[in-house]
Amino acid sequence: MPNLLDYDLDALYAWFSELGEKPFRARQVMRWMHREGCDDFDAMTDVAKALRARLKEQAEIRAPALLRDALSADGTRKWLFDVGEGNAVETVFIPEAGRGTLCVSSQAGCALECAFCATGKQGFNRNLTTGEIVGQLWLANRLLGAKPCGEGQDGGRVVSNVVLMGMGEALANVDNVVAALRVMLDDYAYGLSRRRVTVSTAGIVPAIDRLREECPVALAVSLHAPDDALRDRLVPINRKYPLRDLMAACQRYLERAPRDFVTFEYVMLDGINDSDAHARALVALTRDVPCKFNLIPFNPFPRSGFARSPAGRVRQFAGLLLDSGIIVTTRKTRGGDVAAACGQLAGQVRDKTKRTDMSPLQTVEEVFS
Ligand code: SAH
Repeated sequence: MPNLLDYDLDALYAWFSELGEKPFRARQVMRWMHREGCDDFDAMTDVAKALRARLKEQAEIRAPALLRDALSADGTRKWLFDVGEGNAVETVFIPEAGRGTLCVSSQAGCALECAFCATGKQGFNRNLTTGEIVGQLWLANRLLGAKPCGEGQDGGRVVSNVVLMGMGEALANVDNVVAALRVMLDDYAYGLSRRRVTVSTAGIVPAIDRLREECPVALAVSLHAPDDALRDRLVPINRKYPLRDLMAACQRYLERAPRDFVTFEYVMLDGINDSDAHARALVALTRDVPCKFNLIPFNPFPRSGFARSPAGRVRQFAGLLLDSGIIVTTRKTRGGDVAAACGQLAGQVRDKTKRTDMSPLQTVEEVFS
């Protein structure tokens, strides 16, 4: 039975047309599902009664089930959602003055095995479906008691921004992610602005090009090192798509992007990638790519093998980038008390070890010995 959360508007048009129904019916159902957060066909009062009965027989609207709900002292909220067969993914809501950001997962686990990330240590099970990705936004609004497009505390939406920065590598699941992005942007659904939806990638170059063609939104790239030798060890996908190719892909992306810069994320690892020389090398590397830097203090997790750079080191590093004219922000660590901070999302992954040979299993000790 099809789950209508899996469909973007074009897919819903196609499905309704197979039923012999007009396109406006698809738009009605889209609105009910996403703008009203409705999962009950009977409640769709402007849909003809006979059609409602058919829909009930032939389709469902099913988001993942909630397994756990944790509230951090700083207001960050983390949910664990069941995606079946022993797998669960995490979604994080980060309320801030004037905006609410939802951090969404795209895979159960992750195959990329970045050396400093807890998700990578869990192994990889599978891609999330479009419905499971969109379902996180659908459920977040419901759990926050918010109308998806309604008014929040300060006049805006409760969830005003979405970042695909949860578990998984979004661009390794580009088909389902693009369909989910289209639902997030669709005026019959969430109507989010392209500038307020961000895909974060470790740098899968061909998929950056596909995103640019199919659904350009704001782009964040996890850089983490200024040279290939170090990046090969920290972000192993670099062995396949080295920095020169990645920088070129960023430049191509900007031709279509809704923002005129790429955000480079940079995790600050004590004694590994945080020296003055690294900062200067970053300035040289990114000279031809309009960009902002987002420095992320490393968030520890058990047996990570890394430590967070001291605050003074982060300030000095940021200062060197700023002096060269680059805009730099340092990410405030939120939700650390409920393990909701960047790189701490572990969820529940039944690793069937569907790892690919592009990212051989390596422990931090192997990499840095
Ligand atoms: N697969 C995506 C999303 C990863 S999570 C990507 O690679 O971009 C979002 C960001 O948090 C990435 O920049 C990621 O490298 C970073 N990150 C991962 N583990 C971290 C940790 N332990 N502390 C701080 N940041 C971390």
